[in-house]
Amino acid sequence: MEKEKNIKGIKIRNFNTFMIVIACALYAMLLYATAQMTSRYNDFIRYNDEYIACHESAIEMNAASDYLNDQVRLFTQNMDLQYMNNYFKVANESKRREKAIANLQKYQPTDDELQALEAAKASSMDLMEREIYAMKLIAMAKGYADYQLPQEVRQVKLLGIDKDLSKEAMIARARELVYNRSYMNAKALIKSHSDHFVNNLMRRTASVQKNSMAALDKSLCNQKLLISLLFVMNIITFLVVTMLIVNLLSVYMKCIREKMRLETMGAYEFKYFAMTYNDIYELNEANQAMLEHKATHDSLTGIMNRSAFEGLKDFLKQSPKPMALILLDIDRFKGINDTYGHEMGDKVLQKVGHLLSGYFRSGDYPVRIGGDEFIVILNDFDEVNKNTIKHKLNLINNELQDTADGLPLVTLSVGVAFSKKGYSDELFNQADAALYAVKEAGRNGVRFYKAFHQRLWSALQHRCGQTFNLCVVLLHH
Ligand code: GH3
Ligand code: MG
Repeated sequence: MEKEKNIKGIKIRNFNTFMIVIACALYAMLLYATAQMTSRYNDFIRYNDEYIACHESAIEMNAASDYLNDQVRLFTQNMDLQYMNNYFKVANESKRREKAIANLQKYQPTDDELQALEAAKASSMDLMEREIYAMKLIAMAKGYADYQLPQEVRQVKLLGIDKDLSKEAMIARARELVYNRSYMNAKALIKSHSDHFVNNLMRRTASVQKNSMAALDKSLCNQKLLISLLFVMNIITFLVVTMLIVNLLSVYMKCIREKMRLETMGAYEFKYFAMTYNDIYELNEANQAMLEHKATHDSLTGIMNRSAFEGLKDFLKQSPKPMALILLDIDRFKGINDTYGHEMGDKVLQKVGHLLSGYFRSGDYPVRIGGDEFIVILNDFDEVNKNTIKHKLNLINNELQDTADGLPLVTLSVGVAFSKKGYSDELFNQADAALYAVKEAGRNGVRFYKAFHQRLWSALQHRCGQTFNLCVVLLHH
């Protein structure tokens, strides 16, 4: 918990939640803007359709009116009942004009537009009255029976002056009624009312369409803005994921592959991960070091053990430098164990190990190779300095003579051999031979293996084998 408190940095989880919330909000807004846009677009299309329908209705109204005019005029010219029938068929059955007007009224006209429509309708009715009157005059002039005439014509009562007209005058009067200036004016009035209506409608539609276009434009802008924001957000997410996660993962993978500590960096989770990993890494390193130390060091004396010496040998064999090997054995150690007990014996061994590490250089290698036997390898040590070894061994010997620490007095038998270049098994055997000689001579002493002996020993060993080792040592004495 303490560790978690000390870590500073962006939490990927929080960042993720934040980005999800922002993305959801932006997507919701985008959906809303799209819905708005669709609605504006539908409005625009609806207004357009309405305008087209109104325009068509206005044209239909004028066309229907023109058709009636044409039929009545043809009737006054040809006096053929067919034209009158056509007229009433359209006026009463198909009701083209009325239907067109009713259509126009469906599109919620304004008061002004309604007025124009009503006026057009009234003018149209007025015109119809004239037309029917003209048809009545023709019917009277031609002497058509009542049953041949539609009810509207039958019901018309001619004015007194027209009743008394001659047939020709009646026809002329009828023609005059549908061709004179007043008739033309009435027709023009219908057109003007319907034009007024259409123009008004066009202006209104244009204005509504303009508003709807502006709203559509605004929604489109909003949509573009939201899409840009989403794009930017995606880029940010991409960069953050790359920086906070992908890059770090590859750095951490490299560190783990190369068995290195992880650098504490990046997002909170990675810092936490790195710190935890490093704790485990350090613990593992410490355990490893402890195990290695245990495997290579003698648990009693703390100096290197035989197995470490075996490993060290290979390394020292490669050394180009001269070296000395000191082989030491405690004299009559069994007796110490027997007299003072095994525990005391252990303490003596510890003391010897401690003295060897203390008196020789830190770069030298003191080793307990087994039981009461020790070696010290002095790397980069020339034979000419052998007095240094003598001196150190004297000091160690003096310490071992000192019983102030409560330990029994012990002496050492020591054999020393030198090599011009690196370690060899021969070097060990030579030191061993020198040690053997000390033991044979009565113990408590130091012997340095001589080069002469070495040559002789080699020659004899070559010819006669290991048994001559003893002979060589005796010869040295
Ligand atoms: P010498 O002078 O010929 O060397 O006689 P020595 O009695 O010392 O004989 P040797 O070196 O062969 O005996 C070594 C003894 O060391 C034998 C064993 O009982 C004793 N020893 C070996 N390891 C330990 C140990 O870890 N602790 C103790 N206390 N004694 C040990
Ligand atoms: Mg011994």
